[in-house]
Amino acid sequence: MRFEVSKVLDAIEARLTTDPALARAVVDLSEIVRYADLDGGRPASSVRLGLVIDALGRYLTEDNVPVYVIAPRGLLSDTDLTSNERMVIRRWADDGKVEVVPVLEDRVFEVAELLGLPVLTRTRGEQFRGRRPWVDEPGRLLAAIAGEGGAPVLVSRVGRGDPAKQPERSPMGERLLARVWQCPESNCTSFGSGGDPDSPFADMRTFTSPVSQPPPAIRAGVPSCPRHGAKLKDAGARPSVEVLSVRIDGVVRKRFVVSTEAPVVVGRAPEGGGGVMLGQWLTEDARKWISRGHAQFSLQPGGGLTVQDVSTNGTGIRPGGSPDDDERITLNRNESRQLAPTDVVELYAGVNVGRSKLWATGGVAQTQSVMGEAPTMALRKFERS
Ligand SMILES: [Zn+2]
Repeated sequence: MRFEVSKVLDAIEARLTTDPALARAVVDLSEIVRYADLDGGRPASSVRLGLVIDALGRYLTEDNVPVYVIAPRGLLSDTDLTSNERMVIRRWADDGKVEVVPVLEDRVFEVAELLGLPVLTRTRGEQFRGRRPWVDEPGRLLAAIAGEGGAPVLVSRVGRGDPAKQPERSPMGERLLARVWQCPESNCTSFGSGGDPDSPFADMRTFTSPVSQPPPAIRAGVPSCPRHGAKLKDAGARPSVEVLSVRIDGVVRKRFVVSTEAPVVVGRAPEGGGGVMLGQWLTEDARKWISRGHAQFSLQPGGGLTVQDVSTNGTGIRPGGSPDDDERITLNRNESRQLAPTDVVELYAGVNVGRSKLWATGGVAQTQSVMGEAPTMALRKFERS
């Protein structure tokens, strides 16, 4: 069972992000690990983060949904977790996959406000209501509770039914995320620059790219490092980004970020790092048609999104998402075109890429679980042994 748990932690790791463009919800890890009623196991278990991530995927009907995880430093020495779990969380923190803060205060709610994300919590955020009135809006606080059949579901803590509108970044969030920030601590994973390139350790740490830096904390009115508490230096304008979705046969499989700094190749199995690999979701015929690297997306400094065909068989564009084949535009090898806001790129029939905001729901009836083959009952047995 130990092996199964480490597989679950690996699957969870792939869903951790502090990238403002990709995160879909914010959680306090120290709260989630104590949801003992979800599996009847030990007082604290990091595997419960997986149960909550699965619940978020079902709530959004979308696969591969990433979460922004914040942990107070004390969790790294919480002996209710196993030493292996503490080690894994420490590594996630060192790699910038989760945000560790000295004390939590209202950082979870701050991130949720700056980024316009729901908080996955069983609290009602009462102590923050004065400063953050949005906690009373339906859908902003979602509690993971045991659903029918045992799998957790998310329910709105306030109000009923679906949220009236998608939350948006706060004006302060927009201002903060327009800049690149630099922490005076030389080893800062979130707001570092990689340190001295001549240092023998220069390549050994993971540093968050300026494009995907998390939101600074506002302390005493100034942008500060949430981990080190230090005042951050404004290091210039942040590269703009566009979030795109891969949608296959009506189902959103993955979101990815294109920035003015880095074009992204989408295909069956793009070579090199940073590409978006579709192979696992394609039918046999689609696999034969779609090239390893098929279409390259790039963002121009002015904000224009362009697609360039880099395939053998060509790339289609459906203007405004039109299903009419007469309107379909074909790009042949190396041809490129700027995409209008609602244009949809077609790599093969039913295999589409477009701006994420085009598709309000993920359309997935049965989302992929991070729990893998580890059934809840077996985990429970492991937890109790
Ligand atoms: Zn820092």
